[in-house]
Amino acid sequence: MTERAHLAVVGAGPAGLAGALAAADRGVRVTLVDAAEQAGGQFYRQPARALGARRPEALHHQWRTWERLRDGVDRHIAAGRITHLTDHHVWCVERKPGRAEHGQDPIVAPESGSFTVHALRGSAQEEGVAVRADAVLLATGGYERVLPFPGWTLPGVVTAGGAQAMLKGGLVLPGRTVVVAGTGPLLLPVATGLAAAGARVAALVESADPRALLRRAPAFAAEPGKLAEGAWYAGKLLRHGVRTLSRHIVVEAHGTDRLEAVTIATVDRSGRIRPGSARRIPCDTLAVGHGMLPHTDLAETLGCTLSEADRTAVRVDDEQRTDVPEVWAAGETTGIGGAALARAEGHIAGRSIAARLCGTAPDPRSWAAAARARTRLRTFFTALEAAYAPPAGWVERLTDDTVVCRCEEVTAGAVRTAAGSLGACDLRTVKLLTRAGMGWCQGRMCAPAVAGLTGCPLTAGRRPFARPVPLGVLAGLPDD
Ligand SMILES: Cc1cc2nc3c(=O)[nH]c(=O)nc-3n(C[C@H](O)[C@H](O)[C@H](O)COP(=O)(O)OP(=O)(O)OC[C@H]3O[C@@H](n4cnc5c(N)ncnc54)[C@H](O)[C@@H]3O)c2cc1C
Repeated sequence: MTERAHLAVVGAGPAGLAGALAAADRGVRVTLVDAAEQAGGQFYRQPARALGARRPEALHHQWRTWERLRDGVDRHIAAGRITHLTDHHVWCVERKPGRAEHGQDPIVAPESGSFTVHALRGSAQEEGVAVRADAVLLATGGYERVLPFPGWTLPGVVTAGGAQAMLKGGLVLPGRTVVVAGTGPLLLPVATGLAAAGARVAALVESADPRALLRRAPAFAAEPGKLAEGAWYAGKLLRHGVRTLSRHIVVEAHGTDRLEAVTIATVDRSGRIRPGSARRIPCDTLAVGHGMLPHTDLAETLGCTLSEADRTAVRVDDEQRTDVPEVWAAGETTGIGGAALARAEGHIAGRSIAARLCGTAPDPRSWAAAARARTRLRTFFTALEAAYAPPAGWVERLTDDTVVCRCEEVTAGAVRTAAGSLGACDLRTVKLLTRAGMGWCQGRMCAPAVAGLTGCPLTAGRRPFARPVPLGVLAGLPDD
């Protein structure tokens, strides 16, 4: 199937929805492509329709904002301005060579369709679909950073976001007695959500030091709404009797066939475990997360430059344009910063795209409020990210037999050998020597751990495709 559209938006989370809405409001025809069965992305993840949830809002906050976005997009779908392709997994976005550079010729004829968005349809992902478009907005969000520790591969250990996805999307609890651990603000909604839904949350174990938050108080004070949100979660934790332990880490997960307990301990500033502080908490589930990383695969296949600061996010200008002509990016693919920042960026991108596709000069004054919110929220999240850095010393605490790459079952010892006696000094060489990152997930999970263990910079993976593609689909592609 081949469709034509003015704009293809990849990702129907807060950024993609806001971008699609802003562009469609201004007369742009949009095709919204998303891997999920329903719109919403990670933040507005909806229960599966078949479950017939009567009060889905009980699992969410900012429900009214979601309703506004959803209703706006639904209106455009009914009017034929937006086409929403659900359950479509985009594996590559292709650009015809020879397009005009930014500023030279912003007017694009609707027929030109300079991009092809390649997707795989349905749960089996065996049928190829191609969407032609004149411009692309990448709004593919982020994913959780997973850091290994002894016992992390036991059944019963899940990511914090995974536990939340089970609850929000499947209306199920990951277990009865849960420890929520790691670092970052995501742990708060996860712990409160699980407790409210009936799990016994035995502890919220946060490695960050509250003093690191206090030191950044001025940056936080500029965003009082976020502080109120934090206080609201703190109140909820108190009400549910959840013990919050800061400057604590999970040292090890224990169990034979599945998780039975975790050992936690206090750490000092340099990441050393305080003698005598270790204690065991019985639990059947550990929901663990160490922050987030941007999804950049599709941007990389298009040749978009990543940010100079950390080389893990897509670089954009004030209009949310990447450095590839007619490709915009918004939301967590450009840096981790929450749903409100994703919406602001999506809105700016949608307006910029609409103006440029219609051949008019975009007027930044028309999105001044969103731009102000973007600046404030970026400052806020930069400070937050620094305060919630992964705990010092996590690399030294990894035993040599701890599996680091679970797809290929590569241990920390093997990775250390590759970097030590074999002299590997980049992730690709470590991969070639050990197979770490060569499996199904192509290093999306283990790359931060391999980088930490070897001291190699965490650079983007340079994968040709964003997900595995059946050979039959590749063979069926037209030659042009
Ligand atoms: C697991 C998880 C749980 C979170 N929980 C919370 C929370 O409780 N509270 C909070 O404040 N923040 C939470 N966040 C952060 C919050 O979700 C984000 O800040 C916000 O959703 C970012 O919006 P976005 O539009 O940039 O990306 P997302 O909401 O992540 O949306 C991206 C969309 O792109 C789609 N997509 C990605 N790649 C492809 C592809 N190749 N093909 C097709 N579709 C694709 C995805 O299906 C998704 O719908 C969570 C994040 C994660 C990862």
